[in-house]
Amino acid sequence: MANVKIDQAKCIGCGACVSICPDVFAIENHKAVVKKSDCDGCDCKSAASACPVGAISVTE
Ligand code: SF4
Repeated sequence: MANVKIDQAKCIGCGACVSICPDVFAIENHKAVVKKSDCDGCDCKSAASACPVGAISVTE
């Protein structure tokens, strides 16, 4: 199980993470937030790779 964090200062609200992992990410006030920090079985690492500004960190 991974732990997911978003650097709010870097996030530009593009929504790429939400489209890859909608159970974990959501957009609130034009920034991504983590709805569920325990990522289990979804593709949060791909979401982190897809983030254009490197705002997502995923730790095992
Ligand atoms: S992919 Fe990155 S920049 Fe885009 S909304 Fe998610 S955290 Fe923010």
